[in-house]
Amino acid sequence: MTNNLTHQQWVAKAKVLSIDSGLFIDGRHVPAVSGETFDCINPADGSVLAHVAKGQAADIDLAVASAQAAWKDRRWRGLAPRARMDVLLRFADLVQQHSHELALLETLDMGKPIGDVLNIDLPEVLKTIRYFAECIDKIEGAVTHTASDALHMILHEPLGVVGAITPWNYPMLMAVWKIAPILAAGNCVVLKPAEQAPLSCTRLASLFVEAGGAPGVFNLVNGLGPEAGKALALHPDVIKLSFTGSTAVGKLLLGYAGQSNMKRVALETGGKSPQIFLSDLYDLDAAVDRAVGGIFDNAGQVCNAGSRLLVQRDLHDEFVKRFVERAAVAYRPGDPLDPATTLGPLVGHAHQRGVLTRIARGQAEGAQLAMGGTSPAGFAAGAYVQPTLFTGATSHMSITREEVFGPVAAVTVFDTEEEAIALANDSDYGLAASVWTRDLKKAHRFVHALEAGVVWVNCFGDGDMTQPFGGYKQSGNSRDKHMMSLMSYTQSKSAWFSLG
Ligand code: NAD
Repeated sequence: MTNNLTHQQWVAKAKVLSIDSGLFIDGRHVPAVSGETFDCINPADGSVLAHVAKGQAADIDLAVASAQAAWKDRRWRGLAPRARMDVLLRFADLVQQHSHELALLETLDMGKPIGDVLNIDLPEVLKTIRYFAECIDKIEGAVTHTASDALHMILHEPLGVVGAITPWNYPMLMAVWKIAPILAAGNCVVLKPAEQAPLSCTRLASLFVEAGGAPGVFNLVNGLGPEAGKALALHPDVIKLSFTGSTAVGKLLLGYAGQSNMKRVALETGGKSPQIFLSDLYDLDAAVDRAVGGIFDNAGQVCNAGSRLLVQRDLHDEFVKRFVERAAVAYRPGDPLDPATTLGPLVGHAHQRGVLTRIARGQAEGAQLAMGGTSPAGFAAGAYVQPTLFTGATSHMSITREEVFGPVAAVTVFDTEEEAIALANDSDYGLAASVWTRDLKKAHRFVHALEAGVVWVNCFGDGDMTQPFGGYKQSGNSRDKHMMSLMSYTQSKSAWFSLG
């Protein structure tokens, strides 16, 4: 994605940026029924970007009713597959045409460096929409083998009105991982984005209508989790809820489903991913480079962040030395509107305080700080935290057990393969893991032994749309990306014809 603007040019563009701050219901931006708003804050300097409409239960009712009307009159699912595909492909084209506007919204709202939005988030958003658009006419049912006096077909049909609740760490991308397959399967949707970073998703909803998507098919309600989010999760006319966010909230949603209509609940939740470095690995510099990126990209606010570094004993000292050297060069704090910035602020000041508290707890528990540990000098107004590395971490410390969701990694030493596997699996989470070794047989043993939905061998974070993404254990119960995700927004219907 083109990024040939200077820092000053991005700052000038930000000053004249127009921001949609309403809800998006039935194809229009509307205020909340209550008229209330909440402040949307720029985490780089604490300034107020917008007063965003604060949707609550009454707004969720309106959005679900709009989606139900669209579902019932078949204005979306009734289109020929190619016609739905055309709308989604035009939607992707419009997202691409508006990439500078969307990148600015994301950067100002969430603090993500503008270069990352343009080079990572937006290309992934486009790939996702286009992949699921292209899948639409690849959904196939089956004709089963029966006696000649019967015909039996298995059809895959959309579900109805699906709710999506998403987090703030990749606001557009996490939303599109839901929206694109939900819509591709023929459903209608109500999205509740995270209140910390709602602006880019609010623009996405209107772009869908500009692309020719019928009003009511894609509705969006901004608001707080315990208000708008809870109302969506309890709504009796929502047949499935698709969630990405914390494990704690995921557990609440399972309860809300039981209290309401037993809706299906798909959960993509937290992680505490191990990166395992065996002393026979090929190239220590390459491994360290990926280890550093695996935890400090997006300021560590990544569900699969490789926050547990398991390092074989004879590699340990050199690994730590090179890790510190590499991270100090690669992740420098700066204004996220500056294309040279590689470390933006965290999403907000409350989150910054939480991360610093966890760092202090790690020190109190006896882990040693090898780098970072505080906020960087010169950025007092922003929610910044330095890249931080602990050594001497053990498996009972909170720093190795709890998700920090910030730029904080902890090194634990191991001696044997068995010990590495036991340490890696000693977690409530099971989202992702990596193993670095030159021995293919060993790598294969690790792949089978690791309790994680994604295992990377001699890499970290690699993949494309063909890779199902989701966790084992308390990291979730479903998969984003891949045809698997699309099919999870359908249900099978068996049609038996008597021909006797
Ligand atoms: P969060 O759980 O606090 O919030 C996520 C969403 O849930 C937000 O939209 C929020 O408003 C909503 N919410 C909060 N309380 C709610 C309630 N009572 N009822 C209904 N909705 C409610 O998570 P977050 O802080 O936005 O995101 C960080 C978390 O997301 C981390 O744990 C991270 O690991 C996880 N995450 C997971 C994946 C994955 O694919 N597994 C991807 C990205 C982020």
